[in-house]
Amino acid sequence: MEKKRVFVAGHRGMVGSAIVRQLAQRGDIELVTRTSTELDLTDQASVNAFFADAHIDEVYLAAAKVGGILANNTQPAEFIYQNLMMECNVIHAAHLADIQKLLFLGSSCIYPKFAEQPMQENVLLTGVLEPTNEPYAVAKIAGIKLCESYNRQYGRDYRSVMPTNLYGPQDNFHPENSHVIPGLIRRFHEAKLEGNSEVVAWGSGRPMREFLYVDDMAAASVHIMELSKGIYQSNTDPMLGHINVGTGVDCTIRELVETIAKVVGFEGGIRFDTSKPDGTPRKLLNVDRLASLGWTYSVSLEVGLEKTYRWFLDNQDQFRA
Ligand code: GDP
Repeated sequence: MEKKRVFVAGHRGMVGSAIVRQLAQRGDIELVTRTSTELDLTDQASVNAFFADAHIDEVYLAAAKVGGILANNTQPAEFIYQNLMMECNVIHAAHLADIQKLLFLGSSCIYPKFAEQPMQENVLLTGVLEPTNEPYAVAKIAGIKLCESYNRQYGRDYRSVMPTNLYGPQDNFHPENSHVIPGLIRRFHEAKLEGNSEVVAWGSGRPMREFLYVDDMAAASVHIMELSKGIYQSNTDPMLGHINVGTGVDCTIRELVETIAKVVGFEGGIRFDTSKPDGTPRKLLNVDRLASLGWTYSVSLEVGLEKTYRWFLDNQDQFRA
């Protein structure tokens, strides 16, 4: 049997590497990957040249410039520029190479800041975005619209999944530029080693967030990609072709912080620094469409945090300053 050649763009990132772990178990798939040094996805000529002779059957577009609230706030130009370029180049080059199937990975920050919770797919573009990550969100919305437009005009089957906040192995554990989970795993771990009495978390602790373990995200991505076109289309609006991927369950940042402290084994106090931004007040996805397509998550927050802390301990050499 001839194997399907599947290109995972962004295979060294947290989500891309989880998709690779998932697909590597399959006998019917031949994985194709390129590091950013081998192929700069922001460079149109290189991307076109790659697709023109790589004989790819399907694409997972998991490459992105990502970061937490501080990184988004301080490097807005990088976030909008790099993401737009990668999306335009990969999606258009895939089309030129006559590739029929592509899965684009977005983010739940595409939805309006004050959208009704839990957020349904159809709240997209109904209100203003959260300003701290608006440039990134605009790029991700453009990615969805690129996919929809190539489907409408050229009959492609380019699908989009919008994950809630993700965490897990290969996450960015940078002390400032990371998302809340890896940032705090590291801070609690270092405080435990140094015997500090207190750890500082950002904001008020009151915002609510939903978190999904990245291996669940990879499983959902493969599930959506491999649904028959008939089943996929009967559950999606052609003008709103994206699908939320989450757990449908959220918690306060305070609850999250306390759970991380417990998993890491830090027994000191926690102080919230309210001079740091809270970001959007609540971000919870409605996952009814995903459920109707036959998928639900399997890794609970506490188990996922334990797995992530274990991975951090096994790989912490790379995080030492
Ligand atoms: P967001 O979902 O886009 O806001 O992304 P983040 O993961 O960066 O932040 C989620 C929430 O956690 C925000 O309310 C932050 O203020 C809060 N938070 C608390 N401590 C930290 C931390 O150490 N790092 C980050 N990134 N966020 C933190």
